[in-house]
Amino acid sequence: LVARMRPFGTTIFAEMSALAARTGAINLGQGFPDNDGPPEMLAAAAEALRTGQNQYPPGPGIPTLRAAVAAHQRRFWGLEYDPDGEIVVTAGATEAIAAAILGLCEPGDEVVCFEPYYDSYAASVALAGAVRRPVTLRPAADGRYAFDPAALRAAFGPRTRLVLLNSPHNPTGKVFTPDELALIAELCQEHDAYAVTDEVYEHLVFTDAATGHLPLATLPGMRERTLRISSAGKTFSCTGWKVGWVSGPAALVSAVLRVKQFLTFVNAAPLQPAVAVALALPDDYFAEFRRDMQARRDQLVAGLTDAGFGVLTPEGTYFVTADIGPLGGVDGIEFCRSLPERCGVVAVPTQVFYDDPEAGRRLVRFAFCKRPEVLAEAVTRLRRL
Ligand code: PMP
Ligand code: GLN
Repeated sequence: LVARMRPFGTTIFAEMSALAARTGAINLGQGFPDNDGPPEMLAAAAEALRTGQNQYPPGPGIPTLRAAVAAHQRRFWGLEYDPDGEIVVTAGATEAIAAAILGLCEPGDEVVCFEPYYDSYAASVALAGAVRRPVTLRPAADGRYAFDPAALRAAFGPRTRLVLLNSPHNPTGKVFTPDELALIAELCQEHDAYAVTDEVYEHLVFTDAATGHLPLATLPGMRERTLRISSAGKTFSCTGWKVGWVSGPAALVSAVLRVKQFLTFVNAAPLQPAVAVALALPDDYFAEFRRDMQARRDQLVAGLTDAGFGVLTPEGTYFVTADIGPLGGVDGIEFCRSLPERCGVVAVPTQVFYDDPEAGRRLVRFAFCKRPEVLAEAVTRLRRL
């Protein structure tokens, strides 16, 4: 194995889902829902399989899907992208993130990101031979995660090529505030850096339904330097489909496409018309999806609090992080490895998403994208701790 990949073992998601399968525990570790997405979408995929849409689609994705991605971003966020040249379909957000970093970073270039970060970020940065400059998110007095603005400023420098931003944020559930986004935008412009935004939880913001999600690309001066990434997996409960997309100015998107051609060439043909159908669903679908997940969040937050965890209520995503300290826990990894045996539940230790494991040592992450009866049973078990 090449040196730059040696620090990376098996992903925590694979390890914890294998543990759940082995022990029969309730899996609140890896984030995937236990119900299917919209029936219209599933029917469209079946129809595409039956009607011969089974050969290589065009490299950037089928035109119908690119048009649907453009229409969706215009409808929800007021962002305009040309489906021909400013949008590319990818194998999930994961490929989009990797191709963006590989397409934009020279070896030695620096990538500013917020830790804890989604695990593929560090690996993609390493594959490009780039260097990550993490800024730590910590629970603040108001119970929200925050970063030190001076630390963010200090993370930017002459070698900064891009900032990688995930909001709503996995694993903390943080939704970056307009002021925080404005500072990120200011620093990108001051240092002539790009932004790559991972917005896979764009429809899962629980703070203020009126404001909802705020894409960084909507801030003044940011559209021209931002690659905006999302995917169907979360919004349409089809994480196994791996259909994602990236939108941005043509020059940046073509850099992504250049790399993407040689990573996967193209993506699953029959799933693309189906995701186009899903993206065009009426507003009610998206509102109901959010309401439903918010109810599950409230259920799990109440249950974990009742079970004795120190809970940080997430403002977005479908994850809750919880402090095991009040239960006598000192190390999240040990806690998560023994949890199935102790009470039949699987969670993920948050410390694996930090460069500095001390920062998240006592934090564990639970996914609440599960049926209410599954969450209820998990809580009953956790209360026995
Ligand atoms: N980014 C974040 C923050 C995620 O939580 C995930 C997991 N769904 C991904 C990217 C990967 O998304 P996809 O499955 O579409 O590759
Ligand atoms: N995004 C999901 C999570 O954070 C799963 C991703 C994965 O399994 N790679 O749990």
